[in-house]
Amino acid sequence: MTKKQFQAESKRLLEMMINSIYSQKEIFLRELISNSSDAIDKIYYKALTDESLNFDQDNYYIKVEADKESRTLKITDTGIGMTKEELENNLGTIAKSGSLAFKNENELKDGHDIIGQFGVGFYSAFMVADVVSVTTRALGSDVAYRWESEGADGYTIEEAPKETIGTEITLKIKENTEDETYDEYLEEHRIKGIIKKYSDFIRYPIKMDVTGQRPKEGSEDNEFEEYTEEQTINSMVPIWRKNKNELTDEDYENFYQEKHYGFDKPTKHIHISVDGAVRYNAILFIPEKMPFDFYSPEFEKGLELYSSGVLIMNKCADLLPDYFSFVKGMVDSEDLSLNISREILQHDRQLKLIAKNIKNKIKSQLQSLLKDEREKYEQFFETFGRQLKYGVYSDFGQHKEDLQDLIMFYSSKEKKLVTLAEYVERMPEDQKYIYYASGESHDRIEKLPQTEIVLDKGYEILYFTDEIDEFAIKMLMSYKEKEFKSVSSGDLGIEDEKEDQSETEQNESKELFDTMKDILSGKVKDVRASKRLKSHPVCISTEGDVSIEMEKILKAMPN
Ligand code: ADP
Ligand code: MG
Repeated sequence: MTKKQFQAESKRLLEMMINSIYSQKEIFLRELISNSSDAIDKIYYKALTDESLNFDQDNYYIKVEADKESRTLKITDTGIGMTKEELENNLGTIAKSGSLAFKNENELKDGHDIIGQFGVGFYSAFMVADVVSVTTRALGSDVAYRWESEGADGYTIEEAPKETIGTEITLKIKENTEDETYDEYLEEHRIKGIIKKYSDFIRYPIKMDVTGQRPKEGSEDNEFEEYTEEQTINSMVPIWRKNKNELTDEDYENFYQEKHYGFDKPTKHIHISVDGAVRYNAILFIPEKMPFDFYSPEFEKGLELYSSGVLIMNKCADLLPDYFSFVKGMVDSEDLSLNISREILQHDRQLKLIAKNIKNKIKSQLQSLLKDEREKYEQFFETFGRQLKYGVYSDFGQHKEDLQDLIMFYSSKEKKLVTLAEYVERMPEDQKYIYYASGESHDRIEKLPQTEIVLDKGYEILYFTDEIDEFAIKMLMSYKEKEFKSVSSGDLGIEDEKEDQSETEQNESKELFDTMKDILSGKVKDVRASKRLKSHPVCISTEGDVSIEMEKILKAMPN
């Protein structure tokens, strides 16, 4: 039989897995079980939407069996199975193709990092196994196939006997080495522990033959006998159906990881149970780190959508506004139809209600994070704040009510991020405007001559270093009836007693100014004596609404 080669990226990933120094090798079981669960979801969904199939819950399960003698660990499922083509495509290539392409070579060398970062799925089996074989029969197929691989040098696919629909994965567990033990992955107790830890909420039973001791029947002198019985290891209650009070932060973190929402620890989880006009449960997460592809065209926002516990869509974009696109998680509702198509879903009244409700929850949770855990919020804002500012700007400021209290800017006074509410709160009575200065960096802004007169008055200045900042506040226009004012705008609204003096200067030096204007012809509109300079000889200012920084950006934008 000829060996087929893995696709290049898969091979690299596989090599990493084989030589893995990743400390959490145990996650391979989580990955295989989650694939089995996905496969059962698929057949379940088919049965629910296809009259000709019937789904008997009892016939659907995952079974884990260890055999110390042959050093094998077997994971069997009654899921949808794979055709020969699917075997080839799914196990010969990385499903999430492209994710590796984002990583540079150096990052790739550090296997630890990458395994931690991706849900690498199936290949993680090679962290603990020398040989992996997958025997599978697809729904609707009479033939079954076996895929087998000893690692990076390729795989084989051949026909194999299998009576039932589903997939059976056999791992030949590695021998212990000097620094690593693998025996534990054949120990009943250890395997049970791993299943409990990562896969407890899987909705299908994960069964194991468990040995125990019991008093020997009919025996009088406390004799015991060994017996084996099939047990279901997981509690099967999905985490989102559980009571918040029963769950720990760790439970949510494990769920986050098992779902591959991110490789970081979430900053915050939001668990919602609504039983009103529309009924749904949701678990949402605000990630700590930005996904590596967040600003790439490949990034897709959205939440997983379940209808009564059955996954109907992986990324339902309609559930999240763009400005909350960083939110990860899932929604389960019994009020949605299983057969719903993407197009219908967009107009679904229930879904719209859920989306609105979710938006408000996220907003209020962010508000409470800001109020109660300021440092965490600032960290969050450093990472995703830009998204919120884009939100203020987008759709002609339609979302400003939602977002204006969540955005922050760096303050000249506090030397850290502050909210608009905090700024306005501190404003001296004679201050008319919210002042801001735009520039490349805090340093640059601090050197702007235009800031001096404002700071001198004891007024606070917000530093705009992000391109979007000024556009966003142009949409806001004002906050609590205070308008925004750039320090480089013509009229600063600061009363100045030097007024007359600059008038006089203007007349006295008219000739000089005219000469300067000639030299700078076309570049400036006018050269004038300024009343706003203190220690700097000259500054550039603008008339009207568009600041110098904005002009730069507008000029750079493609037409
Ligand atoms: P992911 O689960 O993120 O897609 P994996 O590497 O875990 O990536 O799995 C790759 C693909 O192989 C899956 O998407 C699925 O199509 C297929 N697959 C893996 N395990 C099974 C299984 N037990 N039954 C059916 N298909 C499976
Ligand atoms: Mg998977």
